[in-house]
Amino acid sequence: MAIATVNPATGATERSFTAFDHAEIDRCVAQAHQTFHELRSTTFATRAGWLRAAAEILDQDVESIAAIMTTEMGKTLTAARAEVGKCAKAARFYADNAESFLADQPANPDAVSASAAYTRWQPLGPVLAVMPWNFPLWQVMRFAAPALMAGNVGLLKHASNVPQTALLIADLFARAGFPKGAFQTLLIGSAEVEGILADRRVVAATLTGSEGAGRSVAAVAGREIKKTVLELGGSDAFIVLPSADLDRAAEVAVTSRCQNNGQSCISAKRFIVHRDVAARFTELFVAKMSALVVGDPMRDGTDVGPLATEQGRTDVEELVADAVGQGATVLCGGHRPDGPGWYYPPTVVTGVESRMRMYGEEVFGPVAALYEVPDIDAAITLANDTRFGLSSNVWTEERNERDRFVDDLAAGAVFVNGMTVSYPELPFGGVKSSGYGRELSALGIREFCNAKTVWIGPS
Ligand code: NAP
Repeated sequence: MAIATVNPATGATERSFTAFDHAEIDRCVAQAHQTFHELRSTTFATRAGWLRAAAEILDQDVESIAAIMTTEMGKTLTAARAEVGKCAKAARFYADNAESFLADQPANPDAVSASAAYTRWQPLGPVLAVMPWNFPLWQVMRFAAPALMAGNVGLLKHASNVPQTALLIADLFARAGFPKGAFQTLLIGSAEVEGILADRRVVAATLTGSEGAGRSVAAVAGREIKKTVLELGGSDAFIVLPSADLDRAAEVAVTSRCQNNGQSCISAKRFIVHRDVAARFTELFVAKMSALVVGDPMRDGTDVGPLATEQGRTDVEELVADAVGQGATVLCGGHRPDGPGWYYPPTVVTGVESRMRMYGEEVFGPVAALYEVPDIDAAITLANDTRFGLSSNVWTEERNERDRFVDDLAAGAVFVNGMTVSYPELPFGGVKSSGYGRELSALGIREFCNAKTVWIGPS
């Protein structure tokens, strides 16, 4: 895939970049290796100062950064501004909390015949971050902020369609004061990932992206015995039971499905509604989906911009066509508009059955599959009948139903009467083919640390 900015609103190539050659990659890896030894011996306070400076720059440069993201991948300017703000918040969160998250963790010395015993969290070294285009700043920041605070250094291989965002991230950390080489962007294609991960100077990898990319990176890391964190796809359920506030549920359902032009791993994608309220929920949901404004992502008032790539839109169209061809019904949307840009309208499909691709695959665009179920057992069975397990959303006012969902949904998170959102304060990650490991919170910063056991004999 060419490394280039191709504006999804027009289809025009705005800037192209030459990929790094092997000598350039090697220089970056050597620099990362060298800088790690410098960074790991700086104090938390020093690193926190740099990270807070990065947050300040994000606040100051929000308009220019947001415009680059919108140009490269088509999210609305409003959403892009919010993403920049969220990154500043996460940077400050780790600047404030990293030291306590990584404080020595004592054990009872008597129980282990020691005068003292504890766990010390130490950084591992250069970590390769393979990142997607959909939240081009946030996905990187939620790795970079904890990694840098722990004393690790980062090598970013960003998605090939967001090179300007990738370059500005490396520039951001340099301007904030981090030492040269603490966070570098490599302009490379995915074919270079294997060689970098096999390099003994690179100690671990984190990948956010598709299942296929996850499998590939995990296979190389397994061969090399290197730690990985994988944040992969999702097909989250959104379950509505009769006691739910239907207006609110329908409104949030639309936001969840269509945020980021329908291209979010934690978007609700499968809407599972109790039959007693299915007719009313469907009416509300379809009306609200149809009312969204699709158009130029730079313009105020646009709700849904184009999909990020032409292939992405083709993939969505094929999933809808496959379902319709086998008997599913489109309640709204379902056809691309005429004209330039990779637009696709908010779409609701009913009658989806297990033989259809949409039942089992992730739909990465603003298309909702709507199911009707007779009871909570059927809702849970359907929700869990997927190879994914990222998050889940449930709507009920009944405490016993809430507890059933919390216990029985096979997912990395359950959000009750609200939509899945990532917060720096809460761990984020999936089970099954949605990946493993956790980002954010104290768990996230410990993923790329050596949990060193320290035992000091009796004196
Ligand atoms: P993608 O094609 O997997 O790309 C993600 C990154 O992986 C890009 O940098 C890509 O580079 C690289 N890559 C692709 N194939 C690779 C391979 N075989 N070996 C090494 N690197 C490889 O994913 P996408 O289409 O950009 O992103 C959408 C997917 O990401 C969806 O499935 C979405 O659910 C998932 N996602 C998950 C989370 C989460 O937190 N769980 C968050 C956001 C997105 P190139 O661009 O050069 O191909």
